[in-house]
Amino acid sequence: MFTLKYAVILEVKNIVGILEFDDQFHQLIRVTDDGSKEAFSDPVVQVQECRRNLIKWLSKFSFKSIPIIPLVVAANQKSIIKTNSNSRKFKEMIIKSNYLLTKLDLIDSQYNDELLERNEVRRICKNLITKHIEDGYEILNTYGVNENDIKRGIYCLLCNAFNVKRQSDTWICEICKSCNKKGYIQALNDYILLKDNKITNKEFRLFTSTESNRVFHNIALLENLKYEGKGKNSKYILPKNGFSIPKHSLEKTT
Ligand SMILES: [Zn+2]
Repeated sequence: MFTLKYAVILEVKNIVGILEFDDQFHQLIRVTDDGSKEAFSDPVVQVQECRRNLIKWLSKFSFKSIPIIPLVVAANQKSIIKTNSNSRKFKEMIIKSNYLLTKLDLIDSQYNDELLERNEVRRICKNLITKHIEDGYEILNTYGVNENDIKRGIYCLLCNAFNVKRQSDTWICEICKSCNKKGYIQALNDYILLKDNKITNKEFRLFTSTESNRVFHNIALLENLKYEGKGKNSKYILPKNGFSIPKHSLEKTT
């Protein structure tokens, strides 16, 4: 988000449970109701990396440097935030989404100097959008994300778990039991955004933790995907702007 005075980067996390931000080992630990723990890469590190990349990007395209404020937003209202950090700066970076507007007002009151002209902000935003599309497939590099850090599996649009599995002609979330006839669409859209709009059967299986090669074969037929190359190395072409997610495609089975 750009203003004439500063920019704010929001790293929004929609994770349920108790979220423990570990300032010492730079990890985010989620503790669920049954007490089980799961580690995520530290969003504070991610948002700071984003900030560094944005600074480099502004300078590369000869834009003026302005203050850039990184924030991590816990979007799930049911999440509880904890941290072992004593650093005030660290704590101030993490907020819950219902506090976001107040926080933005607070930030706004701290900066008085208008460093950018209105048309400069417009130019930056336009450039960010077009560069993002042109270089879209370098998004992992841009944000310093290691390919191994990408969570494998198919994402559930209802409960955010990566536990959607195919069952006969539909896709069912093992956690919230919602079913979705086109449960794979979200995974393909993520693949397009994160990597490429061309995918092989093997790449699909790796990205979604799917074992059978028939799964993608069926999707390719269903979506009428065109392909390049032959046999195992065939690259299937996905729509550059992603598939539209069918409305009312989600329903609970119980
Ligand atoms: Zn679910």
